[in-house]
Amino acid sequence: MAYKIDSASCISCGACVVECPVDAISPGDDTYLISVDKCVDCGECVSVCPMDCIAPDEHNSEE
Ligand code: SF4
Ligand code: SF4
Repeated sequence: MAYKIDSASCISCGACVVECPVDAISPGDDTYLISVDKCVDCGECVSVCPMDCIAPDEHNSEE
């Protein structure tokens, strides 16, 4: 599993990027994106997001 950014709410502020210990977050075409391969599910990005738009994505399983 990985965390996911709700693209409808993300304002591309970049606050989550500096918080991620494994550099899994990067600017996408419209909003910031979390790399499923890199994310280690630490949840650090969730608390810093001013829009509260990052959450675990239960449909994004690696299995
Ligand atoms: S949950 Fe942790 S590893 Fe995953 S994107 Fe957020 S800060 Fe990075
Ligand atoms: S902190 Fe939230 S609003 Fe800001 S870029 Fe990250 S996901 Fe988007």
